Order: sequence, then structure tokens, then C-alpha cells
Amino acid sequence: MRYVSTRDASLKISAAEAIARGLSPDGGLFVPETLPQVSAEMLRSLVSMDYPQRAAAIMALFLEDYMAEELKAYTEAAYSKERFGDEPAPLHKVNDNTAYLELWHGPTCAFKDMALQVMPHLLRAALVKTGEKKQVCILVATSGDTGKAALEGFRDVEGTKIFVFYPSDGVSDVQKLQMRTQQGGNVGVCAVRGNFDDAQSGVKAIFGDEAMRGKLADAGYFFSSANSINWGRLLPQVVYYFSAYCDAVEQGMLSFGEALDFCVPTGNFGDILAGWIAKKCGLPVDKLICASNTNKVLTDFFRSGTYDRMRPFHTTMSPSMDILISSNLERLLYMATGDDKQVKEWMTQLTEKGSYSIPSKLLKTLQADFAFGWCSEEDTSREIGERYAAGYLMDTHTAVASRVLADYRAESGDKKAAVVLSTASPYKFCDHVLRAIGAGAEGSGTQLIETLSEITGTPVPRPLAGLDKREVRFDQVVEKTEMPSAVLGMLGIG
Ligand SMILES: *Cc1c(COP(=O)(O)O)cnc(C)c1O
Repeated sequence: MRYVSTRDASLKISAAEAIARGLSPDGGLFVPETLPQVSAEMLRSLVSMDYPQRAAAIMALFLEDYMAEELKAYTEAAYSKERFGDEPAPLHKVNDNTAYLELWHGPTCAFKDMALQVMPHLLRAALVKTGEKKQVCILVATSGDTGKAALEGFRDVEGTKIFVFYPSDGVSDVQKLQMRTQQGGNVGVCAVRGNFDDAQSGVKAIFGDEAMRGKLADAGYFFSSANSINWGRLLPQVVYYFSAYCDAVEQGMLSFGEALDFCVPTGNFGDILAGWIAKKCGLPVDKLICASNTNKVLTDFFRSGTYDRMRPFHTTMSPSMDILISSNLERLLYMATGDDKQVKEWMTQLTEKGSYSIPSKLLKTLQADFAFGWCSEEDTSREIGERYAAGYLMDTHTAVASRVLADYRAESGDKKAAVVLSTASPYKFCDHVLRAIGAGAEGSGTQLIETLSEITGTPVPRPLAGLDKREVRFDQVVEKTEMPSAVLGMLGIG
């Protein structure tokens, strides 16, 4: 299977090359040229497998230049009991037709771990397979969770350096502390004044900067990315849709072969795109419900066919979804149309005038697969409170999706079994969660962790315990324009 760029389909490369490069030189993203089909037989065989086995089996379909044994070794190391506990992605059923897929049992308590624990293995192997001699320098722009998960995934991985930029406005206290106290000899962390889009466009500008690339090459490095623009980030996410389906069948929510809905709290469109890919590979999925917070650029897109980023940016209690440019939507547009020239033109329009519109025929095709909705701040809080009263504690991102699913069901009458993707531990957003369940939220971020545990009688997740006692190693704050020099400084060159 070859991979092509969404902006130039004549560029055909192997999976290892796509993972090693991250972003295509034309600015496009890599996607498989065709999608593998998963037979009913194969799907059935996944039911009796554990998570690492399921992951190796699904990823093998997309990574022809990786050996089956190799992939098994990576997934067993990545999704080990030590890192994820007994179940890496448990399905928590709350009633006959609703379950929460908990993707936050990894080392940073957020779903980014699902991809970022395995991605460094895929990348290191990709560098060997492509004969790359230089060391890789990973740059990440984070809205909170990606940064920490990438730091944990790459920490002390030989032949790699990793630098994370987070927006000074818009990550929680706990997220900040998690990153500022990061351990590891090959890591760097830096705050950027502004919001996530500032950090992300700053990183993208560095990737596109010839002079920077030259300086790094001279010092024996090259840039790559761990954002969900890298195929090695996206692919591991396809796995848990298959896994959740198998578990939903096992738990009696539906019979084998019946379709399931998934409702996904969405920001950069990576998570939900992985679900769409699973569907196109033959997983019985009906609707993928795209849930947004007040930054509802995707809700408007799926309703109207116009993607318009020219709007006020809102800082919300679900910061990992505070995004106005959902990078992975480009992959959907290419995979749905196969038209690289058209995609390139839309992306140019997005950069130059801030919006583009797709034809109504394409919109109808997308609406057949995607439902959509958004949730206000007030309703996010209310959802956490109501679900907690009914016996399930969830974080702010999960609550957005939970509420959007309820609204979708009420509007459409769809009563089908559905899985809500639960993307972060409630302990990562203690202040909002405490207020939502009617408790006080006085005190520092780390004190609130204790308070939440006392009030709800749930244990503090191991990675968040004792956070305030760790040494702060990184406290640099820079302007967006200073990001390149910050990178050079951290590498000790320039
Ligand atoms: C990243 C993130 C999301 C959004 O996922 P995308 O792949 O960016 O759409 C939702 N919730 C949490 C907690 C996240 O960290």
C-alpha cells in the first residue's frame, strides 16, 4: 500500500516514509492511496484478542513495510499493564444502548496516549527502514494533552529530541504543571504567548522554513511532527474503534454485524477521522457524531458546507477542542473526493481568505456519514452534574460529546447503540468538574485533585499523584516570532 499527499497524489511513498516525513513538502498530509477491507471473519477474530493483539492486527493492514512480529512487539510495549493498567481502552456501559470508551488510562490520563505511546516505536523503525542517518527533532504544538503525551512517549527514546510549545492562554494548571515538570534528557518545553492556533501556525512555519531546515541539517537533525498530522499518530486511533465494537458486542449492546454510532469530542478532527477510516474499512458504523464546544467551526461546516475560521476564538473548559483550524479535515476531503488539486485550492483559500465552501453533492455524501452538534459551556457543566448524579463521573471534553449525543438522539429519533469517546480523566480538569457536581473549587490545581478524590470517593490516577512535589524544569515563555530561536537554543545551535 502506498501513501499519497492530499495536495499532490502523484507523490507516492511507503508507510515508513510517510511516518518519517510527517508532513508532505507541498504542505499536504499523507493518506493511504486505498483503504484495506476488514472482512467479517477478521472482525470476529479480533473479539477474542487482547488490546495489543487487536492493535497489531489492524495496524498491519496499513503498514506493509512493517513485519507482524515487529508490530506485536511495539504494541505490547506501548499498551503494557505497567503503562495502561489491565485494560488500555475499557468500554464502560451505562445503559442498554450507551457506553463510554475510556481512552485515558495511559501515563498522562488523556486519550493522546493511545497513539503517542506507540508512535515513537513506529517512527524509530521508519527511520531505520528509510535509511535516515540524522536524528529526528520532534516539534509539537499542543492545546494541552498532546504535548504531555508526546513528551512521555518520546522521553529518552534514542535518536530523538522533542520540543513542545503550548499556548500561554488555554491549558489547565495541571496540564501546565505536567509539562513543566517533564523528565527526560531529550525534552524541551516552552510557552508561547497566544492561543493554540498561534502555537500551531508557529510550528508549521518552522517546518516550512528552508533556513531553519538547513541549520538543523548542518547540526545532524531533521524536523518531524507528533501532531495528528503524522500518519503514525492517526493510525493507532483507528484501532480503538474496532476494539470498542468488539467489546460492545461482547457486552450485549448489539449483535455481531449490527451498526453502532460513535460520538466524538472533536478538535483537530484526528480522532473522529480515525473512526471514519474504520467505517470505510468495513467496520459496521452508522453515524459518526462530530461534537464541538463553543468553537463550533465544524458544526457549521457539516451543516452548511462552508468552513469559516474567521470568527471569534473562545477559551472554554474543554481546551483541547478550542481549535479553529481542524487540520485533519483536509484528509477527509481528499479521501472523499480523490481530488488533490481541489483540496489544494480549498486549503489555499483557507489560508488566504479564511474560508472555503464545498459543493452540495459532496456535503450530502459527508452528511450520510457524519452527524454533528455543539454544546455550550453551561450545558457542558450541566451534563457533568447530571451524569454524575446518575453514577458516572466524566471530564469536560467527554461531557460535550455526551450532551451532543443526547441532543442528536432527541432530534433524530436514532435509538441505536452508541459509544461516546471519553478522552480525558476527570482529574485533568478538576476545577470545572468540581463546580459542575456542585462542590467548591477553591485552591490550587493540585489541591483540587485531592478534593475531587475525597468528594467522589474515586482514586487519584497514579500519574497525577504528587505532581506539586516535582521540580519545575521548564519555565520559558516566548512570542510566536521567537519560536525558531527557542528551538535552536534548546538544541544548542544557532
Ligand atoms: C485532543 C483532544 C480532543 C480532540 O481530538 P482531535 O483528534 O483533536 O479531534 C478531545 N478531547 C481531549 C481530552 C483531547 O486531548
